Amino acid sequence: MLVVMKAQATPEEIQAVCETIQQLGLRAHPLPGAQRTAIGITGNKGEVERGNLEALAGVAEVIRVSKPYKLASREVKQEDTVLRFPLCGNQPEASIGSRALAIVAGPCSIESREQAFAIAEQVAASGAQFFRGGAFKPRTSPYAFQGLGLEALRIMDEIRTRFGLRIITEALDNESLDLAAEWADVIQIGARNMQNFSLLKRAGRQQKPVLIKRGLSATLEEFLMSAEYVMSEGNYQVVLCERGVRTFADHARNTLDLSIIPAVKRLSHLPILVDPSHATGRRDSVLPMARAAIASGADGLLVEVHDHPEKALSDGPQSLYPEQFAAMMDELAQIAPVVGRSLKM
Ligand code: PEP
Ligand code: MN
Repeated sequence: MLVVMKAQATPEEIQAVCETIQQLGLRAHPLPGAQRTAIGITGNKGEVERGNLEALAGVAEVIRVSKPYKLASREVKQEDTVLRFPLCGNQPEASIGSRALAIVAGPCSIESREQAFAIAEQVAASGAQFFRGGAFKPRTSPYAFQGLGLEALRIMDEIRTRFGLRIITEALDNESLDLAAEWADVIQIGARNMQNFSLLKRAGRQQKPVLIKRGLSATLEEFLMSAEYVMSEGNYQVVLCERGVRTFADHARNTLDLSIIPAVKRLSHLPILVDPSHATGRRDSVLPMARAAIASGADGLLVEVHDHPEKALSDGPQSLYPEQFAAMMDELAQIAPVVGRSLKM
């Protein structure tokens, strides 16, 4: 259910509606919009008695949300959600979901301070606002490099202050989630954990924005339900990321499903990034898919970059050389205005 407040409703009236919802044993999710505030209601087993709520001061109407994902749906919030990262020290303003494209770049894994610094310096110079790097890696083999853990988080913390980049890193489990929440600016939930519901709920109970990668065989509804898990706990700062799904095609690591972008935009207010690196697994496919992603309406990209990909401890074959990343950014600067976007804030 959704309570739509009148445009002129006061903060006190909004507060009073939230309290009434809580007294009914339900959860209230106030979602301010440009025109009006909507208050999502979750926790109800059946229909909520709308009469009680409709009679409250400042309420325009009470409506049923038809989709199984409620807080993530456009029915509840019409305006696009924009995640804002305000100016902080040498970190310029950044955003995800605004007209400005959000560009996340960096190695698959943080391998050493030297490696991470060299890559961060180059992606920052090319205009990335976010630095990615795995500290805890979900590897198919238990014998493969598992990440440097806390040491990697410390390295990325230094990178933040040195290069003014925001840090995105993946949480694999409760312990790494708490660490990522402490050290990173955005927490990534990987494709393999997209339906780890207890992890999603924990991500919803902390304050940092959460980037959710689409599961290897997840439908759009399952993807949005994962976002709903995070939001249902009170964290509305959620970003989706399409990273390819598994199909019969064997010319690429996965099949990039760009058609999900207009579908997400139609059904949800949440921003969506595209990861052409994991989607293709091949360096030579990253640029063409990056172009297509931006042309399709993605809010930005997540791209793997490595200064010595042949020596990378994970995902070398799909990692761009820093010069290729710079060339990609030059191309995107030309494509962006054609689709009403820009590369700068
Ligand atoms: C990653 O971003 O390094 C990663 C492991 O991604 P995914 O969860 O999409 O496979
Ligand atoms: Mn990777």
